[in-house]
Amino acid sequence: MSQNATEVARDCDAVVIGAGFAGLYALHRLRGMGLDVRAFEAGSGVGGTWYWNRYPGARTDSEAEVYQYWFSDELLAEWNWQERFPAQAETERYLNFVADRLDLRKDIAFNTRVTAAHWDEAAARWVVQTDGGDAVRCRWLVPCLGPLSEPAEPPFPGREAYRGTVLHTARWPREGIDLRGKRVGVVGTAATGIQVIQTIAHEVGALYVFQRTANYTIPMRNPKVDDAARERMRARYPENRQRVFDSFIGFHFDLDPRDWDQVPKEERRRTLEALWDKGSLQFWGSNFIKVIMDEAANREVSDFVREKMRARIRKPELAEKLLPTTHGFGTRRTPLDSGYLEVFDLDHVHLVDVKADPIQAFTDTGLKTGTAAYELDVIILATGFDAGTGTLGRIDIRGRDGLSLKDEWKKEISTAMGLQKHGFPNLFMTAAPLAPSAAFCNMPTCLQQQVDWIADCIDYVRRTGDRQVIEPTPEFEAQWVKHHDQVANATLIAKTPSWWLGSNVPGKPQRLLSYIGAGNYRQACNDVAQKGYAGFVIS
Ligand code: NAP
Repeated sequence: MSQNATEVARDCDAVVIGAGFAGLYALHRLRGMGLDVRAFEAGSGVGGTWYWNRYPGARTDSEAEVYQYWFSDELLAEWNWQERFPAQAETERYLNFVADRLDLRKDIAFNTRVTAAHWDEAAARWVVQTDGGDAVRCRWLVPCLGPLSEPAEPPFPGREAYRGTVLHTARWPREGIDLRGKRVGVVGTAATGIQVIQTIAHEVGALYVFQRTANYTIPMRNPKVDDAARERMRARYPENRQRVFDSFIGFHFDLDPRDWDQVPKEERRRTLEALWDKGSLQFWGSNFIKVIMDEAANREVSDFVREKMRARIRKPELAEKLLPTTHGFGTRRTPLDSGYLEVFDLDHVHLVDVKADPIQAFTDTGLKTGTAAYELDVIILATGFDAGTGTLGRIDIRGRDGLSLKDEWKKEISTAMGLQKHGFPNLFMTAAPLAPSAAFCNMPTCLQQQVDWIADCIDYVRRTGDRQVIEPTPEFEAQWVKHHDQVANATLIAKTPSWWLGSNVPGKPQRLLSYIGAGNYRQACNDVAQKGYAGFVIS
């Protein structure tokens, strides 16, 4: 795209890309500051993750009471959550309610994908191009694309020959798909795969679960929220809306402050039992910090979880396969499940160990491994995402002197607090690499915090910069990367391959994508702002 050649259909102050949790809030905040804002959304509706991931069984692993916006008392008062852990449809309905209540749709162009955004240095503006052929010029560019939006699919050869249906979970058809009585294969047994498998197992004719790595899993306690429970939940809102922003991972609970080694073993066991009974990610996020830092502490907790899982598996020969042994508890994302392990009691559910015997290719009728072929009507790829960099990389974002964001991140994944990047003035990102996100934060908490920081920063720059341009210095960015790595490398997580490190995408530079410690991060962001955006150049 040449900036000169492009006919700009419209000038505005800010462009927001994406209409999920972050995008909707960014649109609302920036508009509230009097900016003329245009938002683009590739989908036909709002919701982001909750628009795209409509696979059977999709639901949050965060409690509804903290998986929401905090900025509006009216929204908090008017929306009535129905389940402790809402399913996809309920969360999507909530985001539609917010969009309607705040009258956001009028500024969102749906079914419109942003394809490119180029910085015009002379004009100090971004020129944003969409797949509809339109271009918009803006001062502030705010992509809110989510960390997990770009599906990752294994490159099994022969897909064109396969005569059945292949679906990635993040591209599930809106009209759904009838799986009753069908022979279905699910590739992937992490957070998504587990939800799909436990949900469809009872209706399909035969289910083949292609498992490469067994995962730890915690049984979810998910009661319906009745009126009395909802009132109790509402009574906790004033406290929660502060706690989530201070906590380690953006929840209404926090780490156990005690030193693991100073707590007697029996007391540790009692603590683990009590956390287990919560039936939530509290088992991870309220545990002792040493669990993710110290091999011995991690082994004890991993043994505890395996013991709990083993008690649920009826067929002993399956236990050895379903119990995770290749990584420690909490070093990869731990799913919550509702009857996952129990579905393997069903005679028509088959576990295929594709670590021992990897999938090699599609056939015209299914999948084949090195030693066997599987006849399948539907193949579900629960194979995850090119996280953090994937979706931003899909847009041709070029900063000063034509610098390509995608190419920069192919060399090294680096940002200043996940919010900006040197060479890309006035580009503000949410859920980008090196800010806390899905891995280590309850997303709505961190997205609201990041949007607030961005909006406050834009407000400041508008009032103080002649050209109204801001970008981080290379030194500040390098300093943040170094600090981020120091925190990451102190944990066992940095030693465990997973999407958290980008290890699931061949050739991706390895770095922990999420910053660890949402509360500390917020403090660091606030410090920068209070010091007049120290580390950033405003011109
Ligand atoms: P993921 O964690 O990246 O898991 C992908 C799965 O696909 C893994 O089991 C992986 O095996 C498997 N896989 C990939 N390539 C394969 C191949 N060639 N052969 C066999 N298996 C293969 O993706 P995800 O489950 O979609 O979850 C991603 C993240 O989304 C989660 O960590 C979470 O943050 C979020 N999420 C949240 C919720 C929720 O809140 N309830 C639900 C779903 C997802 P390996 O492990 O061996 O690589």
